[in-house]
Amino acid sequence: MPVAASAAPPDSQQGGQPAPLNGLVLVSTPIGNLGDISARARSILDSCDLVLCEDTRRTGRLLAAVEIHSRIETLHEHNEDAKIGSVLERLRANQTIVLVSDAGTPLISDPGYRLVRAAIEADLRVTSVPGPNAAVTALTLSGLPPSPFMFLGFPPPKQAARRSAFGGLRVAERAGLSTTFIWHEAPHRLLETLRDLLAVFGDRSAAVARELTKRFETVERGKVSSLIDLFARDAPRGEITLLIGPPETDDPEDLDGRLRSALTTQTVKDAAALVSTATGLPRKAVYARALQIHDEG
Ligand code: SAM
Repeated sequence: MPVAASAAPPDSQQGGQPAPLNGLVLVSTPIGNLGDISARARSILDSCDLVLCEDTRRTGRLLAAVEIHSRIETLHEHNEDAKIGSVLERLRANQTIVLVSDAGTPLISDPGYRLVRAAIEADLRVTSVPGPNAAVTALTLSGLPPSPFMFLGFPPPKQAARRSAFGGLRVAERAGLSTTFIWHEAPHRLLETLRDLLAVFGDRSAAVARELTKRFETVERGKVSSLIDLFARDAPRGEITLLIGPPETDDPEDLDGRLRSALTTQTVKDAAALVSTATGLPRKAVYARALQIHDEG
């Protein structure tokens, strides 16, 4: 149901005046369900001077669905720097420019950060129409502690870099970090990433949120090992957000469990290196234990 350009969105909940929508406006768009576009988003998309988007076809479809015909141009990873100068010029000329991404909140694993920085440095107004975001939606549905949380974008696609990134987080946990971690992940990498999570973090509570707000929305919750079993049987599809909870115990006995799971896919040497990084235990001692477990069969 289209909202007429003149229909003012409801006033602020506190009863005061709403923030004026001008300057550079970061507008969140649905992560899969068109019904999640807000009245304020429609209103500013309709009345702005220009909509900057990642992909004109995709955003064009969204605007067409809500019967909005504003001018659209691309702003993506590859042209963001080149485009900043002309966008700042328009903002200085008092134009209202909307930034959207393909889905969800701009800048979150999406382009726009460099433009926002440049606008802030140029002392130009930046404001937002908040809305859908896959990471926060998944967090609230996961059953994992919502606070604190750390959003990490996509894990590195190559296994060595991914394990090293996870190892770094594990080191931070050993230094006291205790938080729910959130990643985006592609369906074809989910299993290997879950296996790396198991090897580095151990078998802790986790959740996999798929196709949020869409017809086949599911949130699978359980230990990392049970999620591995589930997705090994039934290959995951669709858009995925992956979460693991904070460390549950500081149990050094965990060593054998970690080594056993690492040894299912690694050589003794590699399993020992991985688990030694994850636990902070001396590499020699971990290697000796890995060898024992391996020899026991
Ligand atoms: N800016 C977006 C946001 O605010 O949610 C995220 C953009 S990022 C490029 C796209 C990734 O977000 C997907 O690969 C997936 O990991 C996650 N995602 C997007 N939509 C989702 C959905 N409906 N359900 C689960 N995860 C989703």
